[in-house]
Amino acid sequence: VSCNQTDEKKLAISTVNTNLNTTIESKVDSLLAIMTLEEKIGQMNQYNGFWDVTGPVPENGDAAKKYDDLRKGLVGSMLNVRGVKDVRAVQKIAVEETRLGIPLIIGFDVIHGYKTISPIPLAESASWDLEAIKKSAEVAAEEAAAAGINWTFAPMVDISRDARWGRVMEGSGEDTYLSSKIAVARVKGFQGEDLSAHNTIAACAKHFAGYGFAESGRDYNTVDVGTSTLYNTILPPFQAANEAGVRTFMNSFNELNGVPATGNKYLQREILKHQWDFTGFVVSDWGSIAEMIAHGHAKDGTHATELAVNAGSDMDMESNLYVNELVTLVKEGKVDEQFITDAARRILRVKFELGLFDDPYKYCNEEREQSVTGSKEIQDAVLDMAKKSIVLLKNENNVLPLKKEGQKIAVIGALANDKTSPLGSWRIGADDGTAVSVLEGLKAYSGNQITYTKGADLVYGQTVFARELDINVSDKSGFTEAKQVAKQADVVIMVLGEHGFQSGEGRSRADIDLPGVQQELLEEVYKVNKNIVLVLNNGRPLSINWADEHIPAIVEAWHLGTQSGNAIAQVLYGDYNPSGKLPMTFPRSVGQLPLYYNSKSTGRPNMPSPGEVFWSHYTDVSNTPLYPFGYGLSYTTFNYTNLKVNVVSNNTVEVSVKLTNTGKLKGKEVVQLYMQDLFASVTRPVKELKGFELVELNPNESKTINFTLSKNELGFYSNEGKFLLEPGDFKVYVGGSSNTTLEAKFTLE
Ligand code: BGC
Repeated sequence: VSCNQTDEKKLAISTVNTNLNTTIESKVDSLLAIMTLEEKIGQMNQYNGFWDVTGPVPENGDAAKKYDDLRKGLVGSMLNVRGVKDVRAVQKIAVEETRLGIPLIIGFDVIHGYKTISPIPLAESASWDLEAIKKSAEVAAEEAAAAGINWTFAPMVDISRDARWGRVMEGSGEDTYLSSKIAVARVKGFQGEDLSAHNTIAACAKHFAGYGFAESGRDYNTVDVGTSTLYNTILPPFQAANEAGVRTFMNSFNELNGVPATGNKYLQREILKHQWDFTGFVVSDWGSIAEMIAHGHAKDGTHATELAVNAGSDMDMESNLYVNELVTLVKEGKVDEQFITDAARRILRVKFELGLFDDPYKYCNEEREQSVTGSKEIQDAVLDMAKKSIVLLKNENNVLPLKKEGQKIAVIGALANDKTSPLGSWRIGADDGTAVSVLEGLKAYSGNQITYTKGADLVYGQTVFARELDINVSDKSGFTEAKQVAKQADVVIMVLGEHGFQSGEGRSRADIDLPGVQQELLEEVYKVNKNIVLVLNNGRPLSINWADEHIPAIVEAWHLGTQSGNAIAQVLYGDYNPSGKLPMTFPRSVGQLPLYYNSKSTGRPNMPSPGEVFWSHYTDVSNTPLYPFGYGLSYTTFNYTNLKVNVVSNNTVEVSVKLTNTGKLKGKEVVQLYMQDLFASVTRPVKELKGFELVELNPNESKTINFTLSKNELGFYSNEGKFLLEPGDFKVYVGGSSNTTLEAKFTLE
């Protein structure tokens, strides 16, 4: 895809969207009419919180220049200003000291909570519970809004199929359909029904586009994808967010097929603003305008500015270029002033929608900040979300749930006693040490005798750093005590995995095993006590083959946030029956990556005869994943029967299946519907998720679940980005995981 394909005439400068609020539009018009070019450009300028408002006003240097710009009305937004007091101080300058008194829009990365932290987004996605996910965004918005924030840089809707990429923790996994539904839930949660309410904030779909497809999973790396992947896999969650009314988009650090996303006119003007009729504004990623120089796309900062504005990047986050370069570029005729007016219009529109012009201090109420922060309602919501995010990966011989009394329990692993790591990455508003640890949770929920020992240190950051800092990454001195404690226990709970900061931005890993000496610790403990429950804390899929072969019970607990330990304890003791399903494939080996369930078939998918070499496979590892997408167990069991398909018309197909709880406990199951288009003008994946429903059943209870496949589910995008619905043969698969084999066929004429 090249931005050169764009037909200049089609570039929408101002949208003709009938959904726009006419009162707001006329207010924006009147304001624009009295604004100078400099003031319009000022709206397009976003600064990081540069001034410590409790300290003295900056007198010289960079901060003084920024402070001066703020007073001159040359700043439209600030990010990372924390707390009502600080927000009020900067807002006061914008409102009282600038010529027009236009309020700032205050942005912050409220990614999974502000001060009270919910599970990392990847974990939340494992719940497949759209109501709970929406609620989680709702309480995050409430807490953030009470702290003076009016705009979050979330949700991240980047699809990724590579567990090496550190930012998979921030997304909703590998699947486009699931991610699109979750994108909508999060946007609606943050923005609510009424953006002008005091407890809702503007959302931001990011990173537009392709960031999750960084080559080799190395953050910021080149993205080169075909049109089929772009249209069918990468763009739909963004489109869904737009349809849900998301007010902002953030572009991206990566280049996409040779053109940096930030300077990509095809993406921003043609697709987003023209084809999708997006009426909000696009903010650059941090310094991404200036980064176009390092990309080898822009000659210098002036050129980068020209490229970014012309491509449709409306607001400059911390490149500090628009405010310094744009006036000259307009005067020289290199940037059309209409683009500036359009960008300012979009930004002002969102400020009006937020109600900032009616009351610039509506988010600034210290009393509300105090009463809302960490409130019971918020804690309850994040605990509920945390329980729903847990995925039971293995449970042989019913090791779980644990008995609450009369057991001797050994708890091993530095993560078990960690009150910071469970907060995960991207939680900059929260204080360290504010999570309930696993150890605290286990003690609170039972009368068992619990003995804890660390076993080994948790090595985080990058191994490269650890060496530089002289951290001993291979210290095994705690193994002896761990084995002694384990030997005396009835059950050993080992909490292993990644530190909260081992995933996230800039935290790609080339290996995705248990870091440090944790694998050895696990194997040593296993030698003395095989009755182990492995609780994983991690921000990405891990390859844990040995554990899967040997350890009887494995619980995927991700980084679950403030209430982590309580949620894990409730699941381990059976107070909560787990129902999470993996939103991302767990590979057997890092060498299989990218590995995802909805792959294409090859001309040689299966071994033609035993021992045959010439088929699509590795000679040293199977093609199958360790745990597939959609997989997850419960303390009860479910059975699927009576799969029926009814072709109503060429664009409507009804599917039904009977689900029965065949176990002894009440439980929830995520019923998943997959489809395969068996032949098409552009080849289609072997399976694609096209529907799901969360169903709760009592033992022996059955329910018939109905799905309807409509045009959106039955069709796909051509290589030219055209939506096609082609006749032919199809298969549907229904079950509790993407590897289900319960299937039926249908034909569209
Ligand atoms: C990230 C964005 C984030 C921004 C502001 C960047 O480094 O890529 O996702 O919103 O920083 O903190």
